[in-house]
Amino acid sequence: MDPTFDIDGLDLDAVAPETPEALAQVVRACRASGQPLYWVGGGLSLGAGIPATVPGTVVHMTSLDRVIDYPARDMTITAQAGIRVSRLQEILARERQTLPLDIPWPDKATLGGVLACNVSGSRRLAHGTPRDFVIGLTVVDDNGKLTRSGGRVVKNVAGYDMAKLHVGAHGTLGPMAQVTLKVRPLPPVRAWLAIPLKAGMNEAAADRAHGCAARPVAFDLLALPGGPAAWTAMIGFEGEAPAVAWQVAKAKEEFRDLAHVQIIECQPNSVDAMATRLAERTDPQSGAVVALGCLPSRTAGLAARVLADMPGAVVHALPGSGVVRAVVPEGKDPRGLLPGWRDAAGPGGWARLARAPRPWRQADSMWGPARPEEAISAAIAREMDPDRIFNPNRMRHNTRLPDGKPS
Ligand SMILES: Cc1cc2nc3c(=O)[nH]c(=O)nc-3n(C[C@H](O)[C@H](O)[C@H](O)COP(=O)(O)OP(=O)(O)OC[C@H]3O[C@@H](n4cnc5c(N)ncnc54)[C@H](O)[C@@H]3O)c2cc1C
Repeated sequence: MDPTFDIDGLDLDAVAPETPEALAQVVRACRASGQPLYWVGGGLSLGAGIPATVPGTVVHMTSLDRVIDYPARDMTITAQAGIRVSRLQEILARERQTLPLDIPWPDKATLGGVLACNVSGSRRLAHGTPRDFVIGLTVVDDNGKLTRSGGRVVKNVAGYDMAKLHVGAHGTLGPMAQVTLKVRPLPPVRAWLAIPLKAGMNEAAADRAHGCAARPVAFDLLALPGGPAAWTAMIGFEGEAPAVAWQVAKAKEEFRDLAHVQIIECQPNSVDAMATRLAERTDPQSGAVVALGCLPSRTAGLAARVLADMPGAVVHALPGSGVVRAVVPEGKDPRGLLPGWRDAAGPGGWARLARAPRPWRQADSMWGPARPEEAISAAIAREMDPDRIFNPNRMRHNTRLPDGKPS
């Protein structure tokens, strides 16, 4: 491992602790000097958030990659947070189990990085978000103490669910060292239908999916430049073979009149890699991705608006979950479009850059205008990291002043 690592143009010393205790020791040493710590897993999403400005130490998490306990019959697994997603899935697959999240670049992405970002994929419709799979967490607090919350069993409701605070916090509340997850059975059969839609039919398709008797595990709307139609509906099923066969036939019947050309049955493996292939359209170093959220009922309309404003974008919408992501075409700066998209997203909606080149990564473009509930995040961050040593400046609630002091 290189002794230094570049974070936002800062060439920083790097360490790679091999045990949670060694990780805690790193935190203790840096806390004493007030020096920031930057966690790095697979390094795929370091362009999410406000750029780092304060020099500190990079902590590679990938040496923390052991499976601690896997009681397969209980359908839970406890692993260190630096484990790669592909390795975790291989271990689960031996027991015909899986973590049903559609994580791009599984050979690089780490469990801790996925949880810190909490981005959801196609099968959120049936299975939920990364946060929904966490039942226990071991983290290092700002005093360098290992603390555990939650447990190793699925039924586990005593006390505050502190573990969930770390999911989606982008590492700003401290490093996750070890995670207990609940897992699901590996479905015996998976199937996907791709339905190139007639013009103007993406909202109708989303409405139809909502009431579809075939009960898909995924319903996505996809705009791919050069595709057979402006929008393709992707419908996913998984389960026992006879049930899936019935679902596929039923969905074909229900969507036939919306199809512009023939409905295509896809190889599940080719679609499994869809998240990765879509993500690959962005250069992790310089490309930009926008993310928007709205009520499920507004998703198809919002996705159409994004495509109209940014012709040539790859747009991926999850109408069941109110999520739209779009890969920004090269040469296009989407920042001026964000306020209009926020209005179009409606009450409670949001629009921000999920990943962007460094000069675009200001607080408003990355996280949207400040929202009242951020006061709560700020209060939590003040308690859990008063000196702002954990990924300082990544989110608005953990900014350091230009002199390096906590804001
Ligand atoms: C369907 C789907 C689609 C996605 N599409 C994209 C996409 O197109 N582009 C994209 O960039 N991402 C996408 N993501 C997010 C994806 O989950 C992350 O890119 C990736 O998994 C992050 O893993 P990583 O190990 O590379 O994390 P890193 O990039 O190394 O880290 C990401 C963040 O997590 C923090 N972190 C890492 N490990 C820990 C830890 N152990 N404890 C605390 N904080 C930690 C880091 O400091 C950093 O803030 C998608 C996710 C899903 C599920």
